[in-house]
Amino acid sequence: MARRSRLGTRVVRSARTLPAGEGVPVAPPLVQSVAFDYRSAAKQDEVFGNERAGYVYGRYGTPTTAALESALAEIEETAAATCFVSGMAAIAAFVDACAVASRGRVLTQEDIYGQTRALFERWIRERGAAIEFVDATDLAQVESALRAAPATLLYVEAMANPLLRVTDIAALARLAHDSGATLAVDATFTSPVLVRPTALGADVVIHSLTKYVNGHGDVMGGVVAGSADVAKAMRDRTILDGSYMPPHEAWLTIRGMRTLELRVRRQCESALRVAEHLATHPKIARVRYPGLATHPQHELARRQFDGLFGGVVTFDLNDATKAAAFRFLDALELGASATTLGDLFTEVLYPAISSHRRVAPEERARLGINEGTLRLSVGIEDAEDVIADLDGALNAV
Ligand code: PLP
Repeated sequence: MARRSRLGTRVVRSARTLPAGEGVPVAPPLVQSVAFDYRSAAKQDEVFGNERAGYVYGRYGTPTTAALESALAEIEETAAATCFVSGMAAIAAFVDACAVASRGRVLTQEDIYGQTRALFERWIRERGAAIEFVDATDLAQVESALRAAPATLLYVEAMANPLLRVTDIAALARLAHDSGATLAVDATFTSPVLVRPTALGADVVIHSLTKYVNGHGDVMGGVVAGSADVAKAMRDRTILDGSYMPPHEAWLTIRGMRTLELRVRRQCESALRVAEHLATHPKIARVRYPGLATHPQHELARRQFDGLFGGVVTFDLNDATKAAAFRFLDALELGASATTLGDLFTEVLYPAISSHRRVAPEERARLGINEGTLRLSVGIEDAEDVIADLDGALNAV
């Protein structure tokens, strides 16, 4: 008969597995375990060696994060997906592994998310990385930059943060592939609801899951979705750089993602109304929204995004000063003055002090981000209330 353990041992060893019973849970289990126990060292060896599917340690993969990865790969129509602790971790891992680490040349969009640009500029300074910035909406400029010297990677955003320029994914994929480069698209702003970039020819899709995919303002995460080879390289990064998404974040993201389509459709509907309203407001100098006919890529957006135009509206105050922008932000009652987007809640960001703080003021101005530029992420509240809140805050400007 097996020896009965003493109490001190029993409390430590008890309840490690769930009791068996009929019924399949409708929500996936949260497997909040860092390590996985093996009765067979030989099997454990095979899992470590990638010869057998399984889990060994938190940075190598966890069942709950793997469930999210399978879902994202299916949604993005890629062979695999790898989740990271943040969107920035995903971008850094992919761009480094694909090009920078092997000294490959990268062409990227000049008006990408400010922190992505700051990271690339740091790599140029500190590592001598060959990264060049182009206007990715100007196909002739991209083509001539691709022809000028061999490039490994063309990296763009489907709808850029915060100027909402729309890139032509199919055309960029053709140009990249003709010159032997990989096309990676950060589709954070569009979410998979507006576009699945691989269906248009992109090789890799990146999202900050922190934004629309989770959508509840309570998780940070990122994903790189692409081929099995990309996934292999990304797994190596999560293991050695320690940037793998932990299971609780994955579980929350799965829950948030269930309502992605409902949320995004409503956000797009409200954002169009908000953009149309702001376009006629006397205190606004300019509204950027791909759903407005005045947007330079309006027709492309209509074609590429299936009639939706996103939940973000960027606008410039007539009084393009920091003081006016601060008065506007402080007067908001419903909208949060917060550095994020894609949540259930309406959120307003002032790029000059946040996302684009590290981009030199002259370069910000050249791109079109001035002291009066504000980025509005429309939530799922009633659109009338969002508009009334904006009008109230504009009265204070
Ligand atoms: N990509 C885009 C387009 C973003 O807007 C952001 C953040 O705002 C990121 C990537 C970085 O994501 P995270 O904040 O999850 O690191």
